[in-house]
Amino acid sequence: MKEIKKHFPFYDNESDLIYFDSSATSLKIKEVIDAEIKYLNENGTNPHAVDYKKGFEALEIINQARSLTKEFINAKKAEEIIFTSGTTHSINLLANGLKKIINKDDEILVTELEHSANLLPWISLANSVGAKVKKIELNKDFTINIESLKNQLNKKTKLVTFASISNTVGAKNNIKLITKVIKEFNNNIIVHIDAAQSIGHMKSDVTDWNIDFMSWSAHKMYGPFGVGFLYGKYHLLNDLEPLFYGGGMSLKIEEDLVKYTLATLPEKLEGGTPNISAIAGVIESIKFINSIGLNEIENYEVNLKKYFNKKVKENNLENHITFYNLDVESSIILFNVKGVNPQDITNFLDHKYNILVRGGANCARRIEGVIKTKIAIRASFGINNDKAEIDKFIEALKNTNSFLD
Ligand code: PLP
Repeated sequence: MKEIKKHFPFYDNESDLIYFDSSATSLKIKEVIDAEIKYLNENGTNPHAVDYKKGFEALEIINQARSLTKEFINAKKAEEIIFTSGTTHSINLLANGLKKIINKDDEILVTELEHSANLLPWISLANSVGAKVKKIELNKDFTINIESLKNQLNKKTKLVTFASISNTVGAKNNIKLITKVIKEFNNNIIVHIDAAQSIGHMKSDVTDWNIDFMSWSAHKMYGPFGVGFLYGKYHLLNDLEPLFYGGGMSLKIEEDLVKYTLATLPEKLEGGTPNISAIAGVIESIKFINSIGLNEIENYEVNLKKYFNKKVKENNLENHITFYNLDVESSIILFNVKGVNPQDITNFLDHKYNILVRGGANCARRIEGVIKTKIAIRASFGINNDKAEIDKFIEALKNTNSFLD
């Protein structure tokens, strides 16, 4: 994967930077940046303006991005893909859209590992309608405990929502099996997947998984900022109340200023001008990932972590560092240098070694319910990383013992 780095302008002027923060956002490939700039330079019109050729070309870009996305996650129809501004927007759109079917005393099941984007919209919805958000029990490896989930399902359960891959401990849930268990209990229980951490790291197959909704962001798949996606099974998506009312999503407003007719999917849920220049970038990001293959990407990243684990043992790093998820097969490492504030370590790694990692809650505010600490350091890999970088990381981690003197 050495050649891969050439796709990332990030390294052009500072080739010694070691970027281990793909979970926060993946680096952007040149093809994505070029596509955005090309759109702004050569077109720049509104995709709603189909009265002239340029506007029509803009609409074609959206159609192409939508149909590539449909193939990418194996949805049945392109209309099942809604463009949003990111995972956060997608989940808020969904939570708001479900207001009319989630009632007082209904239950929404979540895990304590969820990112705030997959917790707060549900807590807010539950608070506003008098429903309850309940925790799903986890196994020791941080995956969902299916037996206990089975026991938790009851006639009040309306929705189960969880991350395909957690953004802190990297646990990967068996989406197909979990969904099967839920649907066997009651096919009407809605299953939503927060795919922000898996979309660029493993193959998604919404049809095989039989899930109802899925949310993710383009910036986590080597793509542009400002674009996200909500997938939904057509009939469920069609029942959602829009979050945004405005241009591009209505067909008629009656003279009485009471009644109106909305457009069909997908426009119905996409009020306002879309982020068309970024959507041009989405096309390139999907092509890039497809050209490598998600299975290849997943294997490559998991192997990087295995290599890291081997080095941790060889260098006895566990003497002064607590690793929370060494045994989890993923591209994320979560750790703390014993007794040292994570931010001191992230500064040290940045300033002394040019290694970019995160420290803190990593937006998973209930993680302390799972690993007994509120804050930790997260290093996360992408296909832009390699073993030589891990060797440097290990060297740097060895030297974090200087904090203990
Ligand atoms: N969900 C998970 C699991 C995430 O990791 C993130 C971002 O880190 C989000 C949701 C929110 O994504 P965005 O900030 O792109 O809306």
